[in-house]
Amino acid sequence: MGKLATLELEDRAAQVREQLTAAIAQYGRLVYSNSLGAEAMVLTDIIATDFPQIDMFSIDTGRLHEQTYTVLEKLQHRYGNRIRVVAPDAPSLERLVAAQGVNGFYSSVDARVSCCGVRKVEPFRRAVAAYAAWITGVRREQSAERAQGAPQEWDARYGLYKLSPLLDWSEAEVWQYIRARALPYNALHDRQYPSIGCSPCTRAIQPGESRRAGRWWWEQTESRECGLQPRPPLPGQRAAVA
Ligand code: SF4
Repeated sequence: MGKLATLELEDRAAQVREQLTAAIAQYGRLVYSNSLGAEAMVLTDIIATDFPQIDMFSIDTGRLHEQTYTVLEKLQHRYGNRIRVVAPDAPSLERLVAAQGVNGFYSSVDARVSCCGVRKVEPFRRAVAAYAAWITGVRREQSAERAQGAPQEWDARYGLYKLSPLLDWSEAEVWQYIRARALPYNALHDRQYPSIGCSPCTRAIQPGESRRAGRWWWEQTESRECGLQPRPPLPGQRAAVA
């Protein structure tokens, strides 16, 4: 990476630090919902290095790829177990599996939304409950819905503010940051998985497909979200799970 690119990247990272510093002054307690994706490598590094007062958690849905557990373990080792791992509520999970089977999420959009509700949304709601604002690594480039976001906005679904300090970062900048610091990352990113969720619900994308095309690929919709980020309601479907 050239000297100019390095300086620009450092400037971008400094802007993230400024945003987080201002947010702490404004909201007090902050928590980062760590997706363990490429953007998460950037935010984990910045937060773990410079913001000991910001908490971090990651949701272990129980259906993650082995490569995702590997990168989680590397982050815990590198940053001293800074990431709290949050699990779904066990009785709720047992009821879900009893009702729809272990892979019931393939059977319908409602079944899939129910699974995301138990494995992701409820643990998320629990993890952010005590905070005034949560941090996410979403970027505008990732989807038409995310392109409409703001760096700070009220998240009415969960009753706290949402901060997106990487909103205007490009994918190239994310990877420049990862490479410049030799950060760990999910090995699936090298196998055409730009967006990684649960193992049974994520596949590699083909050339020319959108970066989220591998998520819930059997659902024929332009906007697939698990409920942690907004999505428009689809015809004949209840509004975002959420
Ligand atoms: S992504 Fe798939 S396995 Fe994971 S919570 Fe949602 S439906 Fe369930």
